[in-house]
Parts: sequence; structure tokens; C-alpha cells
Amino acid sequence: MAGIRIQSVTKRFGSTQVLRGVSLDVAAGEFVALVGPSGCGKTTLMRIVAGIEQADGGAIDIGGRDVTRLRPGDRDVAMVFQSYALYPHLTVAENIRVPLALRRLNAWQRLPAIGGLLPGAADANHLMEQDVRRAAEALGLRALLDRRPAQLSGGQRQRVALARAIVRRPKAFLMDEPLSNLDASLRVQTRREIVDIHRQSGAATLYVTHDQSEALTMADRVAVMQGGELLQVATPEAIYADPQDLRVATFIGSPRINTLPAETGADGMVRVAGHPVGLWGARPGPLTLAIRPEDLVPAGTGLPAVAEAVEFLGESLLLHARHEATRTKLVLRLPPEARAELPAPGAAFHLQFDTTRALLFGP
Ligand code: ATP
Repeated sequence: MAGIRIQSVTKRFGSTQVLRGVSLDVAAGEFVALVGPSGCGKTTLMRIVAGIEQADGGAIDIGGRDVTRLRPGDRDVAMVFQSYALYPHLTVAENIRVPLALRRLNAWQRLPAIGGLLPGAADANHLMEQDVRRAAEALGLRALLDRRPAQLSGGQRQRVALARAIVRRPKAFLMDEPLSNLDASLRVQTRREIVDIHRQSGAATLYVTHDQSEALTMADRVAVMQGGELLQVATPEAIYADPQDLRVATFIGSPRINTLPAETGADGMVRVAGHPVGLWGARPGPLTLAIRPEDLVPAGTGLPAVAEAVEFLGESLLLHARHEATRTKLVLRLPPEARAELPAPGAAFHLQFDTTRALLFGP
């Protein structure tokens, strides 16, 4: 394993407890996406792993080494952040070379007496150029090596930042919203490139994004964070289909999962406003029934609802509706062909759902 190990990390800013004992393992070769609402502590956690910020408690291991007290430069991590600070006066090749040159400088500073006389300096230069070329090639930057940042598009600049991150072959990558400055189509293309780079590197990657589709498509596992705590860490499929917590269920998925107040009766049957829904609860009492928009369908019988509006999305359409008895808004995702048979706005209809895919959450 020996990737990134985050153990019981806590952090407070003034009176705000930002991280409340966060533990997360990212194995070597694994890609973990960290998602959560704005302000939940994602960036703070990344900065602590990188060593830019100190935790109040807990420990960080990278590549099997306790780095909790090490400086950022000694942790063997590469960072790519949303604002990719390139050196404006350096060419693309020089920008990519910076981490290698810094590493060499570091090594020389530790051997001050023979610094300038290290044997094999020419070899080292040659190897450095090879590494720069390899990184540039991986990101399609070969033709741009002599340009300066001002002569590049936003997407090309972000690629230079990525090339600069991979050039050192670090044990771990930390990426904080690295694609958020790119337009939609470039973002989708660069996603694949980042995943490819990650695969080839064998490094552990921790990737912060507010874009769920990015998290679900790129990651081996998704970590959902809220209020400074990890709620669930699981494969994208498990996070979507089997969330362990109502907060995870409502955060993941767009449109948001439908939630209806429900009740388990003394007979064990789950009812919504007195209407049995074909599910059984573990014990009598109130609960929340959650159903994804694609799992609800209009039908002749079932939960009574009123249609409100239709939105056409191209590959699907959304029917907005209301469950009158509980005053709950609902969204159904249907194939575009369903349009002809949809209830008109204001019309009453019924809803059915696949009970094997519905979720029940206790209070
Ligand atoms: P976003 O998705 O908006 O980037 P985030 O999940 O990355 O949010 P953080 O940037 O980690 O959240 O911030 C977590 C909380 O800590 C926020 O309430 C923020 O205001 C606070 N915070 C972050 N840095 C500092 C600081 N240096 N001093 C004081 N408070 C801070």
C-alpha cells in the first residue's frame, strides 16, 4: 500500500473546528476523489497533507514514511491547484524543469564542499532534459516547449502545471480543483489525461473536486466530507447506489435524490401518508424514503402526485411533480420518448418505483 495515510487529523481556525478527526488511506496506485459542500474542510486537509498547513493533531504518512513534521519540499508529493502559478518569464520547458532543478539544488546544498564538482553533472542535465521531454509528451506539450505562459491558452497552461507535477515522479499527487478554470469540453478531455497520468505513475492521488461527475468518473473511491468529517468512503457505484447516510444520498446525484417522509407501522409496513409502498422497516417509527429521479415512473396506481412542469435535457427529460399529502417536491428522470404520455401540468397521476432500489434512512 504505502500511499497516503491520513490519521485522525484535527484542525481548528480560531473558534471553528474545521477538521474533526479525519482518517483516510489512499493506496499507491489508487485515485481517491474528495467531495463535499463548500467550506467543509477539503482544501484545509489537502494543505495539511502537503505540509503547507500544520494540523493540531493526528499524523500523515506518505510512501510509508511519517512526514507529519517534514517541510513540503521533503514530503515527496506534487501539488496541482486551481490557480496554476507558472513563472511568466520562463518557457514551458523551463517551467516544467523547475522541480527537478530545485531538487538538485537541495541535494547540492547538503553537500556544500563539493557542490560544484559533483561528478556526472552533465549526465544529470541530460537525464533532467529527458524527464522534461517525457512529461511534456504525456501532456501533448512537445510543440510548445519554447513558448512562455502568456502565449498559451488556459488549458495549455493547466497542462504545463500538470507536467510540472509529474516530472519528479512523486509518491503522491494532491490535486485541488485542477480543472475548474477550463471550459466544459476541455475539462472532460483533461479528466482522461489526468487519470492516464495517474495510472502510469503508480502514485497515490488525492483529488478535490466540487464536480460530482468528475469524482464519479475518475476515482477508484469517493470520499464524501461534510462539516470536517468523512461521512463515507466507497467506490463510485456504492456511494451512488448504497449511501450509508442520508447526507451522502442527498449530496451525490443530480438532480438530487427525492426524499419523502415515511413511517413504519406496528405491522412493519412502510407507508407514505398512509399509503403502503411495498417496503418493510426494521422497527416502528418515522423514516425517510429516498428514491433517485431515474427510479420513479408514472403509473396507473401508486403514490398520488400532481405534475408541475417538464424540462427537456436532450438525452432525457425531467418531470417535476408534487406529492400533495406530504407537500414534497419530486423529480422524475424519464427517457425523451416518454414525453407524449406525460401528465399535463396540473394533472393528477400516480407514481411507482422499484422497491429494490429505494433507500430507507432512520431519523
Ligand atoms: P471550498 O469547496 O469552498 O473550497 P473547502 O471544503 O475546501 O471549501 P476549506 O477551504 O478547507 O473548505 O475551509 C474550511 C473552513 O475553514 C471554512 O469555514 C473556512 O472559512 C475556514 N478557513 C480556511 N482557512 C482558514 C484560515 N487560514 N483562517 C481561518 N479560517 C480558515
